[in-house]
Amino acid sequence: MTRPPLPPLLLQGGRVVDPSRGLDQVADLLIQDGKIAAVGAGMGAPDGAEVRGVAGMIVAPGLVDVHVHLREPGNEDEETVASGARAAVAGGFTAICAMPNTDPVTDNQAAVGFIVRQSVRAGLARVYPIGAVSLGQRGERLAEFGEMVGAGAVAVSDDGRPVASSHLMRTALEYARTFGVPVADHCEEPSLAAGGVMHEGLVATRLGLKGIPSAAEEIMVARDCLLAELTGGQVHLCHMSTRGSVELIRRAKERGAPVTAEVTPHHLTLTDHACEAYDTQAKMNPPLREAADVAALRAALKEGVLDCIASDHAPHAYDEKEAAFDDAPFGIVGLETAFAVAHTELVQGGILTLPALIARMSTEPARIFHLPGGTLAPGAPADVVVLDPTVQWTVDPAAFRSKSRNSPFVGRTLTGRAALTLVGGKTVHP
Ligand SMILES: [Zn+2]
Repeated sequence: MTRPPLPPLLLQGGRVVDPSRGLDQVADLLIQDGKIAAVGAGMGAPDGAEVRGVAGMIVAPGLVDVHVHLREPGNEDEETVASGARAAVAGGFTAICAMPNTDPVTDNQAAVGFIVRQSVRAGLARVYPIGAVSLGQRGERLAEFGEMVGAGAVAVSDDGRPVASSHLMRTALEYARTFGVPVADHCEEPSLAAGGVMHEGLVATRLGLKGIPSAAEEIMVARDCLLAELTGGQVHLCHMSTRGSVELIRRAKERGAPVTAEVTPHHLTLTDHACEAYDTQAKMNPPLREAADVAALRAALKEGVLDCIASDHAPHAYDEKEAAFDDAPFGIVGLETAFAVAHTELVQGGILTLPALIARMSTEPARIFHLPGGTLAPGAPADVVVLDPTVQWTVDPAAFRSKSRNSPFVGRTLTGRAALTLVGGKTVHP
């Protein structure tokens, strides 16, 4: 049975921002047969086309998030592939990459295929699985990268935990290189970070909580950069949080090392002061750092030393986060607030231009993970977001499409959000 084709759709009179082609102008965008057909000023609508006026709105390639935790299989009460994809499109994301630290771990061909099937069934954002580096993420034996890539994995990672063994990391980079996929690493030297629950510094001392020093991240960043150079394999550094990491990445990139890096909206906007009052919504790993780190991360994102923004969307059940600070799990949800937090703090805050933000949330993440999308070039799949840059809204967890509510931005008034999200030309939000 074939589905009837969608009628052509003309998005008329928006500000079309396409960093992949350096485009930023008021224009119309025509979508036909699920693909971008044309971009230009004053286009006529073809016969039978649906016309939507989007004056005052931003028309951009759909946002791409390379670091998302869905909880299926294993903890479907916290998130499923479908609920995560629903949250994604509400946040303006048309593609997300799912980390493999599920239960069981996504460390084989069949498990990767399961994520792909759940994603197709949901029919919302595209969900690209990331396979585990090691079997069971135990850090001992490599998983079968070739079979996982064949089933649809776009990267490998043991995220949730670091690849502690330098030898295993070296082998993973060599092996991943033959399949053309990045190894995404959660940079944390386990013996230094052990038992820590927040950033090691004055605030932790005052609160009487055990800290995680910046060096725990930086040691692994340095190691991974060296191993990327040694092997020629692409290392992708997850959720960078310290100014020292920024300097290490800058130097590695200057040497031509195949290194890419991401930063989260929360590390770009919050400091360890958010942990005052033992607020578990501010407990994440890596932890929120200091104002000087936030400033360095912002400058590095602008400069391109950090390639992209990723949410590290990490759903947790309400009662888990209600535990004492020491016992609560690390992580926050982010898909539905990522764009608005970044737009409010970075664009309205004068740090990034809007096209630069779109580049860091769409074109660049697609490029570094070798994904389709991130472009409005004619012929590309019509993965498109229409963003309202002026709407103000207050973060209300009861309105989240995610199954989880853990966010440090609850109650914040933010500016900007997705008004329309299209995947393959199909309206998936609202
Ligand atoms: Zn991580």
